[in-house]
Amino acid sequence: MDLTSILEYQNIDKALYNLEQTLENGVWKNMLPKLNQTAKNSQNKSSQLEGQAAAVLKEMEELKKTIDATKKHGKDILKSDPETMSSEQIEQALLKKDRVTSNLIALDKRLTRLAENINQILAEFNSTVKIYNDAKLQYQQIKAKQDRELAEAQPKINELKAKLDLLSKKINPKTLEFYKARRADKIFPVFVELIGNSCGRCRMELSASALSKLKSEQTLICENCRRVIYYIK
Ligand SMILES: [Zn+2]
Repeated sequence: MDLTSILEYQNIDKALYNLEQTLENGVWKNMLPKLNQTAKNSQNKSSQLEGQAAAVLKEMEELKKTIDATKKHGKDILKSDPETMSSEQIEQALLKKDRVTSNLIALDKRLTRLAENINQILAEFNSTVKIYNDAKLQYQQIKAKQDRELAEAQPKINELKAKLDLLSKKINPKTLEFYKARRADKIFPVFVELIGNSCGRCRMELSASALSKLKSEQTLICENCRRVIYYIK
């Protein structure tokens, strides 16, 4: 097996691999999904708050109707002419009036609480919208940075790929296919040198029989890290 070409290929590919890794593992790797999640969460939360606000507003409307009806009832009690009423009837009317008044006080308190509730929901809604907008803006900025770096690296990527293309013609197709499959699984480098009696990557020591097989066949797949150990005399 002619190792020269595939090793040369791997050497150029190393630059490409490193470049790809740098681009892939930039600040965006964790940030973009995180910001996306933040935006989604705040969107869910704001629609939840909208639902809450609608329910409270509806309750307030009902309450206002009750208050109006109670007020009207209070006025009706006072409409009767005291001249035509017995003292007992007057006493009854005054008692009713008192009940209506305390009822109204309680209803007003409830209305105030609901208004406070609405204000809280509104404040929370506003801060949720702010979180959403901030996350969206930050997402756009980081995405733009990623796009810029990708665009900047593109000429270098193209250059390396052209070199690899040219070199690939000298390599046995099966060897290249094997190499590319490993590379796609991010097993890199694919070919590693024998160091001492061990795999140059994972340092697993080879048995005597594996070692003699490697020395006669020039390559051997490492049982531990699945890379190709090569031996050059
Ligand atoms: Zn190994």
